[in-house]
Formats: sequence, C-alpha cells, structure tokens
Amino acid sequence: MSSALQAGPLTLSKKRPAADDDASSMEGSRGPKVAKVHPFFSNSPKEPKTTGTFQWQKPLGARGSCLHGTNLTPVCSSKVAAFDLDGTLIKPSFGKGAVKKASKGAPPAWEWWRDTVPHALEELRLEGYSIVIISNQAIKGTSLTTWKEKVGLIAATIPSVPFQIFAAVAKDEYRKPMPGMWNELTRIFKEDGIEIDRTVSFFVGDAAGRDGDFASTDRKWALNVDIPFFTPEEYFLKQPVQTKFKLDGFNVADLSQLPLFSPAHTPVIPEPRKQEIVLFVGYPGVGKSTICERYFVSKGYEHINQDTLGTRPKCVAAVEKSMQEGTSCVVDNTNRDVRTRKYYVDIARKFEVPIRCFVFTGSMELAWHNNLYRAYNLPLSSASRQEKRDLVPYLAFTSFRNSYEEPSLSEGYSEIKQVNWIFEGTEEEKKNWSMWLQIEGK
Ligand SMILES: [Mg+2]
Repeated sequence: MSSALQAGPLTLSKKRPAADDDASSMEGSRGPKVAKVHPFFSNSPKEPKTTGTFQWQKPLGARGSCLHGTNLTPVCSSKVAAFDLDGTLIKPSFGKGAVKKASKGAPPAWEWWRDTVPHALEELRLEGYSIVIISNQAIKGTSLTTWKEKVGLIAATIPSVPFQIFAAVAKDEYRKPMPGMWNELTRIFKEDGIEIDRTVSFFVGDAAGRDGDFASTDRKWALNVDIPFFTPEEYFLKQPVQTKFKLDGFNVADLSQLPLFSPAHTPVIPEPRKQEIVLFVGYPGVGKSTICERYFVSKGYEHINQDTLGTRPKCVAAVEKSMQEGTSCVVDNTNRDVRTRKYYVDIARKFEVPIRCFVFTGSMELAWHNNLYRAYNLPLSSASRQEKRDLVPYLAFTSFRNSYEEPSLSEGYSEIKQVNWIFEGTEEEKKNWSMWLQIEGK
C-alpha cells in the first residue's frame, strides 16, 4: 500500500509565528483616541483617521479580507514595483532589528528599513513605475486600527510618491504566497486599460527562504505571480543576488508520475458485469468524486456520498437499497478506518456480492493543496465550468490522518486497487494548481 497516505505533518506549522504580521507587537497596544462617529454613519467606529494624502478604500474580496489603500492618486503603469512592508520597506515590529514599541497614547512607532528607502521609492516614481505594497496582516481590532494608522503616517513622509497598498487580513486567498492581492491589482489595472508587463515588474520581500529567514512566502509569491524577485539587501543595498535559499512545503512539481490505477492489469469494471459494492478510501479532495463519475456512474453504478446524503446511516441504507434493487454502487466517502468500512463489508456479506476497495493514494499535503486550489485559486475563466468549493477545514485532514487504518484484504475485499492522483484541466487551470498554495501559521 502506498506510503503516501502516511503523510507526515504539514509544513503549516502551528508553532511558527506569522512573522510577517504585526500581531504580536500590536496585541494589547492601544492607538490614540479616535473621534466617535455616530453608528448611523459608520459600521465601524474604530476607523483610523485619514492622514493627509493617504486614504483607505473599500476593502476588497467577498469577505472584505483584502484591505486597499491609496496615497495620492496612483497611476496604473505597465511597470509595477511591488514591495513587502515589514522587514522590507520598514523595520519589522518584532524579532531581529525591530523598532521599539510606542508608549501608550503615542502614535504607532515605525522606521524605514534603511534611510535610503524613501529616496528609492521617489526614483521609481520618476521612472514611471506603479508602486505597490503587498502585506500580510492577519490582525484584528485595535491592532488593525493602529496598523492602518501607521500606514497613513508612512505615507505622510513620502507625500509626493503615489502608491497603493494591499493587505491580507485573513488566512485566505489573499494571504501571501496565495496570489489574490496580485489578482486584485491586475483587475484594477485592467479596468484602467493597463496590462502589467511582468518582465519589467518586480517584487521585493524579506521572507525569501534564506538562512535565518522566518519564511519564504515573499519569494513564493513572486514565483506564483511570475515576476522577478529581490530581497531588500539585493534591491536597496545592491548586494549580489543570493542563489542559496530554500522553499519549503508542498509543491506539486515534486509529485511522482504514477499510472492512474494500480495494479493496471485488472479491470476497473469487471467483465462480464456483476453486481458489487465499490468502497472508496482517501482524503477529501484527492479525486474520488471525479473518478466515481467518470468510471462508475457512467457504467450505471449508484453514487453514494455522505456529503449529499448527510449521515452514515443514510449511506448504509442507500447501499442496502442498491443491493435489493440489484444495482452496483460506489461508496464515495473518506472511509478512514476498519470500523467505518465494516458497515459496507457487512452488507456485501449479507447480499453475497463482492466488495472491492479503491484506495486513493494522494497525501494529506496534496489533499490540502487541492482544497486551497478549489476554494481560492481557480482561474476566473473556469469559475462557470468548475464548481468553486468552500474550504474544507484543516481538521478534516488531520483527523483523517490520525485515525487512518490501511485497508487490508482480511477485511473482506475481493481486490484492493490504488488510485493515483493525476491533475486534469486546462493549461490555465494547471498553472494555477501548480502554484505554491499555502496558508502559514494555521
Ligand atoms: Mg516582511
């Protein structure tokens, strides 16, 4: 049986701090008092003051989880100079080289990463670049208000530099390395009739996978959106380009190419046809329903699925009914352990029909990746054709892994077949699926 199912823990480490975020430094710090607005005029009485030329715009995305702000009136240019914020344009708020926290009641503290940064931004403006800040900020409440105010203060020191800022405040399609903020940017530029030239655009970030970097999300983000990448040292200090870095975590490029079914010499559908139960086993999102539809439903098998029916007793009853009616069926559930599978093995015994087990070998990392792809990264062009699914909670994957028992012939199957994952889709879908899709700090 495949060892792929015995996947190790994901790289979505619980312990690793989301170091790109200001959360830990901001927690508990209170920003200056904000003038009260009558609730009739505002849903959020905590909105920060607008500072000079800077303005927070309406948040983007279905859940408003992508903040969007503008300094002056940014012009859309085909050349985009994109920057991470913390540890890139400004000093980080915690960790090595962090700025000292502001005292209570004082404006939020911040410092440029190096004194030359504002000058470099001014140069880019003169060269006709659109300047864009791309930041992960999974913070809420007072911390978020303080942070939003800080961005206004930063903008106030470069009053002649128009820029846009995008900030992902949730762990969703906007969070780097997920490409959501870039998608919003390209959409906004398109509305202005501007197609971004990726070859002359670039992204600078400090989460670059170097020794001592807390993550590699910035470098992965640049790879995902397919623009050149620099570290702050390379870009602002003109240091030589570092070729030594590590991109950790799951990447589909590392998957080995296996045949869809193994063993391949036994038929998927027995000839001559006879009544049977086919039991699927595997993580959510590793292709079970697609295989069921294509190979079994098309041959008259009944599709039995707990997501549709609601409960296991209903699935068990549906299998019984299928047996009584003389039809074959597929139990398309995760069927993680012997106890769960026994319900169906017992029905096969009772009706004296064979039961075969199809084990989907896709690992937990692949399953989670596919989950992120379907919920967050389908190309727009596929949205009408392919069903966008809600994100299946991470717990569904870990609980499968923790209680998984490898199927064995001794449970009563006439055959156990492995089904290996093969991506199917258009070129554009494959490009989006092949990206680094990770939500760190889960
Ligand atoms: Mg950073």
